[in-house]
Amino acid sequence: MLCVFVPEYQKFHCIAEKCPDSCCTGWEIVVDPESAVQYASIPGDLGERLRHAMTEDADGDILFKGSDSRCPFWNQHHLCDIQSALGETALCDTCRQFPRITQDYGDSIEYDLSLSCPEAARLLLTRTPEQLILIEEQHPELIGDLPEYDPAKMQALQRQRSELFQLIRDTSRPALEQLRQCLQLVCQWENNSVVTDNCEVLMEEHFLAFLDSCEILTQDWDDILTQAAKKSDAQPFSVSQPLDAEIRAFAFDFLYRNYLRAAFTESALPFVQQLLFSVCAVLTILHRLELQEQPRQLRIWQLFAKEMESDSDNLTELEWVLETEAVFSPGAFDAYLKQLGGA
Ligand code: SF4
Repeated sequence: MLCVFVPEYQKFHCIAEKCPDSCCTGWEIVVDPESAVQYASIPGDLGERLRHAMTEDADGDILFKGSDSRCPFWNQHHLCDIQSALGETALCDTCRQFPRITQDYGDSIEYDLSLSCPEAARLLLTRTPEQLILIEEQHPELIGDLPEYDPAKMQALQRQRSELFQLIRDTSRPALEQLRQCLQLVCQWENNSVVTDNCEVLMEEHFLAFLDSCEILTQDWDDILTQAAKKSDAQPFSVSQPLDAEIRAFAFDFLYRNYLRAAFTESALPFVQQLLFSVCAVLTILHRLELQEQPRQLRIWQLFAKEMESDSDNLTELEWVLETEAVFSPGAFDAYLKQLGGA
């Protein structure tokens, strides 16, 4: 079995109480059946709390029932009571694996980290273009399922993804220009001509209006969107060198995680549109809030990922508007990137 990693996958360590967010807030924690059985037999006060917290939802999943959208075992010192009392092995699968992501293609597995975690976002988005690499290892002891894709289509997508990676690493042109090139290349590969629309002057408003229409998971994100909506008079925006590198690192990671999924769909273009929406929406917020310092920029990328990419309802809604709304068509993104400095 071929296993592919970002090097940061093996470097990641949870920063626990130093985390500015937490995977224990804003989400429901789904408890796997094996852990639920184990928790049902834990003695003492913690056992009582575990049994009281577990609840079954309409889909039959067992969840931890918390208050204020936070896990009931996340204590005032920002540490997990289950891990403190019983050790890391007692964590349910959801908590043990987060923020690690596995994409299983049957004959290969790709490993990444979720940008929803601040520490993972810091590791992934502070990479220089030269550090945008993947590690490949053969693990014959791992036996996968038969792949459910057309091998020729998968090979073509792998070649295309490598070509897109090369563009993203190539710093001879600005990141936004390279993203525009990526869009044009994918359209060309799919015989889908990019008709460059007149750039919508209100594009930033469309990004913000869409984000505002989504389910909002955290108070911080709500506050950020409120501030961004009020500041339509921000000064002209330029992409600094550190931000250029963040855009490349985000794009590399996004394509790594998503591009090969087109083996199971009709087209890779929606994934590229989603990448462009993500970059343009984050740039809109950075522009409106005039955020120049890297830690604050990283926080916006991370919160965007938490709110949009890791929430299935929001992601479904985004996929729908990208497919149906002319304002987010490939031609509209092409024109907008050109206006932003994508040549
Ligand atoms: S979000 Fe990441 S760094 Fe923060 S508590 Fe969760 S795993 Fe740890």
